[in-house]
Amino acid sequence: MPLSHYVCTNCGFWQRYFQGGPPACPVCLDYRHPLPPEGWEFQTSAQVAANVSVHWQEVMPGIWQFWNEPQLGIGPRGYVVVEPAHGNIAFEGAGFYNQAALDFIASLGGVRYLSASHCHVYGGLWQLVEVFRPEVVMQQEELNFTQAFQVSWPFDDQAELHAGAVLYHTGGHTPGHTVLHLPARQLLFCGDALKFQLDDAGQAVAISTHRAYAAHIPLSHADVRRYQTVLEPLDFDGVLTPWEPVPHGGKSAARQLFAAQLAGRPFADFLPLSPSSLL
Ligand SMILES: [Zn+2]
Ligand SMILES: [Zn+2]
Repeated sequence: MPLSHYVCTNCGFWQRYFQGGPPACPVCLDYRHPLPPEGWEFQTSAQVAANVSVHWQEVMPGIWQFWNEPQLGIGPRGYVVVEPAHGNIAFEGAGFYNQAALDFIASLGGVRYLSASHCHVYGGLWQLVEVFRPEVVMQQEELNFTQAFQVSWPFDDQAELHAGAVLYHTGGHTPGHTVLHLPARQLLFCGDALKFQLDDAGQAVAISTHRAYAAHIPLSHADVRRYQTVLEPLDFDGVLTPWEPVPHGGKSAARQLFAAQLAGRPFADFLPLSPSSLL
């Protein structure tokens, strides 16, 4: 029986399943996500291709962001980091990539390494795996969610793709949650470890961290201390979440947030940033 890819329209998670589609979505059944109020709806690639457009933009030099309109599920944005000397890295996924987007990624040099912070933001990474056959590097706790594509490089605490790109396991938001550090660019792809509110000029004005965003569940102190332990030694200033690039001030904002979290009871609300924390 041929298998096809189906996407959950509630969250955007893709599953490879028998004809007719899966009975449920494991991401939506998890406590972090709301169940679809009208029941399950799964769509095939052909249905999605007819309904969404794909857009891309170079958000920082050599870093391209891809997204869909209308958004698919929770609407994560995917990134391709252009690394001529080492091979390009895809991190996080847009919900869906059409042929024009795949052709554009090919024109950038394709994808040599592929990873994601966690299952909420895989989007259509399975498509990049099928087209570009990259190394697929995932924290081993994520393997429960990677059945739509084949992982070639499971890792524990960290995985060095090359000297300028290292994945670190943070846990916290999900057991396998991972960040990608690009030391030469002083950038951190932080997944859902950090979330920012930006003003109209794109400056971060508030920051939060959470176990569950929609359900508004904070992290425990041990989770926050783990984030601190992993992030503090890393040299970075800019941060890219699966939604927003924050060009400057990311590390000082994270420090301020972690200190506030550990000073009292945990919270899922946004912490307003003082201007001095962004210097
Ligand atoms: Zn779902
Ligand atoms: Zn998440």
